[in-house]
Amino acid sequence: MNSKIPEDLLERAYQGKSTKEDGLLLLKVPPFELFRFADELRSLAAGNTVTYVVNRNINFTSRCVGTCGFCAFRTNTGKVLSIEEIMAKVREAKQENATEVCIQGGYFLRLAWTSTLGL
Ligand code: SF4
Repeated sequence: MNSKIPEDLLERAYQGKSTKEDGLLLLKVPPFELFRFADELRSLAAGNTVTYVVNRNINFTSRCVGTCGFCAFRTNTGKVLSIEEIMAKVREAKQENATEVCIQGGYFLRLAWTSTLGL
């Protein structure tokens, strides 16, 4: 196959020694060639073993000033969970053997970062 990925870049990737410049060059590779390369590296690293983590996404608010349309739950007046409510969801997740939680929510201008960091 006629690859657009230079041999030396491929070698560094196989050795786990990719550079920032390699990453920037890969941005210019046609997507499906890049996907094939990524799948080959994944196959070398993990074979056909599929792994997963038990995860819970906790949306602390549906209130959002955004209009991106990416979600179907955005409102102008949605509830904002308290820290206690969020922590209760974290405990529920832990009981279900979650090893990861993602805490996310809409853009809500009155919610200061300091209160988020209070988590
Ligand atoms: S909540 Fe998130 S996904 Fe939904 S409209 Fe706002 S920014 Fe977009």
